[in-house]
Amino acid sequence: MMETAEFQQRTGDGPMRGRSKIVQVDNALTAFHAVPADRPGTALIALKAVVRQCEAYVQHKEGKGEGQRLAGVSELQQQAGDGQAKFRTLAAFNELVAEIDRLLERGANPDTDDRALAAAAQEVSRGIPPDDFHAMMEGQVRTLGALSGDPDLPAETRGIIGELMAAAQRVTRMQVPMNGMPGMKITAGEGDSAEFTFNVDAQARGGSSFLQGHLAHELTHVAAHQAFGSSPVMELVEAGATPEEVRALATERKQTLLELQQALRNDPAFNDFQESMLSEKLVYGAQPQKLEQYASGFARAGKITEEQRARLVAYGQAAGDASGALVEYDTVLNQMLVYLHRWGISQDNPFYVRLRAAAQAASDRRNQARSRRGAGPPAPDPAPDRAP
Ligand SMILES: [Zn+2]
Repeated sequence: MMETAEFQQRTGDGPMRGRSKIVQVDNALTAFHAVPADRPGTALIALKAVVRQCEAYVQHKEGKGEGQRLAGVSELQQQAGDGQAKFRTLAAFNELVAEIDRLLERGANPDTDDRALAAAAQEVSRGIPPDDFHAMMEGQVRTLGALSGDPDLPAETRGIIGELMAAAQRVTRMQVPMNGMPGMKITAGEGDSAEFTFNVDAQARGGSSFLQGHLAHELTHVAAHQAFGSSPVMELVEAGATPEEVRALATERKQTLLELQQALRNDPAFNDFQESMLSEKLVYGAQPQKLEQYASGFARAGKITEEQRARLVAYGQAAGDASGALVEYDTVLNQMLVYLHRWGISQDNPFYVRLRAAAQAASDRRNQARSRRGAGPPAPDPAPDRAP
């Protein structure tokens, strides 16, 4: 990257320069060069700002007879674009996530921060060597598991974390999805010996609490799949359930999500960002047509039989407009449990109270299904002090 002085020389360092918009390019370039060597995430963000200022200048001046200056700006823009690759490292990813954490601690909204940190984290994640990324996620699994030792963790969450840690042993790969969607999928075996690959949403828009919540969500898919003995679609329905049973289940789950939505409304304990993170999960937990769409997609890909597809479609139809609660329900509850703990929300908060009861009921259902099916042990680390 050229130094600011060199750039200024090349683009006409005359007495009138101070009046030109090119000063904004100068400032962005100087800011980049001032970033300490051990801050690759900040350096990447600074380079993006250089590119943005170059673009703005070229757009402003094009066709106004500043050929030589424009050539210098275009050259810098090229350099700043090319220079970003070397900052797409694990260290940069961790730094960006930590910066989002700092914003959240200050009560700021990372969605409206003009550095677009989450998008940068996602971009960076694609440059991290896959083994390094997997190892980083193993660290995230350990961090999630270590929550069990936190004396402030609610008993309900502690029991669930134990269940999720058992599920984590079935996940053999955690990676950045290059083509597919984020999520958990079966990549080998079936039933209790199935192995899973976790396509991680490395956007991390809510920082480390987002990553931890995302991890809890995806591990819940694994735990529930094994508890219920469900199809590769991983429906949250015990194998062999009748459509009538599924109808009752979906109605109950939809009602709980509605109650949670009501509890969340206008609750001053949550800031706008937190409210949006919870709201989107409550909506995601019961989208119409969801199981039917998954069933069709999996059948087309040859991952389930026609008989399985037909059963899942019948389940989805039995759920009415809450089909999504048959795929995403236990998942979003556990994800929100992690959010609330990480955000330090009081356990007396009405939304938190309702959420813990709902997550415990869902956990009980999984445990009952496990013992009915005689399928492996439930949580390896049941909460010793769990309330009845
Ligand atoms: Zn999910």
